[in-house]
Amino acid sequence: MSDLKNYKMVINGDWVDSDSGETFESLNPFTARPWALIPKGSKADVDAAVEAAWEAGRPGSEWHSMTASSRGALIQKLGNALLSAADQLAEIEVLDNGKLIAEMSVQCKYLAQWYQYFGGLADKIEGAVIPIDKPSTFNYTVWEPLGVVACIVPWNSPLLLLAWKLAPALAAGNTVVIKPSEYTSASTLEFMTIVEEVGFPRGVINVVTGFGTEAGMPLVEHEKVSKVAFTGSDITGSHIYQAAAKHMKHVTMELGGKSPNLVFADADIDNAVKGVVSGIFAATGQTCIAGSRLLVDERIHDEFVEKLVALAATAKMGDPMSFGTEVGPVTNLPQYKKILDYIDIGKEEGAEAVLGGVKATRPECGDGWFVEPTIFTGVKNQMRIAQEEIFGPVLSVIPFSDDEEAIHTANDIIYGLAAGVWTTDLRRAMVMAERLEAGTVWINTYRAVSYMSPFGGYKKSGIGRESGQEMIKEYLQQKCVWISTATEVPNPFVLR
Ligand code: NAD
Repeated sequence: MSDLKNYKMVINGDWVDSDSGETFESLNPFTARPWALIPKGSKADVDAAVEAAWEAGRPGSEWHSMTASSRGALIQKLGNALLSAADQLAEIEVLDNGKLIAEMSVQCKYLAQWYQYFGGLADKIEGAVIPIDKPSTFNYTVWEPLGVVACIVPWNSPLLLLAWKLAPALAAGNTVVIKPSEYTSASTLEFMTIVEEVGFPRGVINVVTGFGTEAGMPLVEHEKVSKVAFTGSDITGSHIYQAAAKHMKHVTMELGGKSPNLVFADADIDNAVKGVVSGIFAATGQTCIAGSRLLVDERIHDEFVEKLVALAATAKMGDPMSFGTEVGPVTNLPQYKKILDYIDIGKEEGAEAVLGGVKATRPECGDGWFVEPTIFTGVKNQMRIAQEEIFGPVLSVIPFSDDEEAIHTANDIIYGLAAGVWTTDLRRAMVMAERLEAGTVWINTYRAVSYMSPFGGYKKSGIGRESGQEMIKEYLQQKCVWISTATEVPNPFVLR
């Protein structure tokens, strides 16, 4: 008898095994050992979940009949319940994902804000009456839900990235099928116990666990799915975008990045050092917004690198469940190998690892998948370690000689998710904010996000935005209604 925790997924309000009965193991990155069994969903499970979601959203259903105010209140109730369950959810994220308890205990409380904010927005979605240019005609618009939304989530911040999709999708009146990452499904399944307690109608929120091609793709291709809200790599995003196009679906794509952090000679150097460390070593560099390219004025390059190495070298590695730990393990074995491969590539390309550059063998890291915080100097922007997303604690340092070169290097990349600028010169800050090709520009700060502020990518970093009021429209479609008050229908052969 296995002592692994046995999870079930949720279809139409029921906790179920996969149709095939198959499961797969979820591993704890700190111990590199399995701790849970997850149902291995496939097309049959996806079909059942989409059918349940479709039925739950049809006219006459409990969900469809709710007023926008009651729907919003229910979503806000979920937010309140999440606040109470935040500590328990944080522990699951640490166990399953290797994220730091110090960060998760704050993040799991904060993510409740997405449900509060979008719950509050549910009854503020208003159409318009248009003073139309036709006599005896009344013209108005209404916003309607899209239908069934597929939420496909990656492993690096499972519950936060789910909240960015689920809260607005529900507020807009859609129903949902969630496909969490195969590496980190447990927290979403724990989250569903809270959804159940809060009392959403059956079928409004479903979860199918499993792998990308077996469970994710049938979901994308299902004819009753109207929208795919995806966060993940640009390669997977491209496959999904093509499949969605074939079936004419709406999409939001939150993809990868290789964000530049620009440090100018006039910057407050100590603050900039902290900002660069936070950009690349927080969350073990496994964030889409990782500031993985440090562009630094050549006049302060040596001093800056020295201070950066000194601070990064103090990072405490070890058990992510300990509040004192600052750099935790890599979430999964393939990603761990990928990071170490990129470190080898960097060395072969001629860059110099002035910090780290090896896997971590500190005793406090145990059997976990740890990589030493790594800083490469002597990097050219065309090297692979400067152009490709590593998604780990590996920083490429590239000097620049003037502002033009800084902007050119920053933008000379396929991605455009985020950028950081460290300067005390307001004019320079504003010019950089204008000219950097990125969906988010942070000036004298880094790695700040909010439910109120739109987030998303330029270029290959994505399509559409998450968070902020306006993005609710990404989950709605507009209908226009024409009413004639004329007593007679005019010439039928002429456009009115
Ligand atoms: P991934 O693309 O491998 O997987 C993401 C999700 O897609 C998983 O649930 C996976 O099972 C599913 N999937 C994989 N192949 C699929 C297919 N063919 N059809 C349907 N679904 C499929 O990404 P990952 O490795 O889990 O996450 C890391 C990536 O996510 C990085 O590139 C990172 O930059 C990106 N990311 C982006 C943001 C953002 O908001 N822009 C945030 C976090 C992570």
